[in-house]
Amino acid sequence: MWLSAGCQGEKGCGHSAPIGIRLAIRFMGSGAATAGELERRLRCSLCGNRQIGIVLQLDARPPELQECEGPRPDTRAGLPD
Ligand SMILES: [Zn+2]
Repeated sequence: MWLSAGCQGEKGCGHSAPIGIRLAIRFMGSGAATAGELERRLRCSLCGNRQIGIVLQLDARPPELQECEGPRPDTRAGLPD
């Protein structure tokens, strides 16, 4: 599972970007912070809009395919290996 951050609001450009779950956890520190706090910390990389909406994304692939292919690249987005 991973998060998807979308550029929203009247001035939003509609750009959306995946956020790896580990990066999200690092953003949120102890995990006590909420997605709402993460939203307030983010800014659109395209237009600079600060109205960011976060949606939790789930891996909809069948379990055997997930095992075969490993985690989706989206789950590691934003974290250099
Ligand atoms: Zn934008």
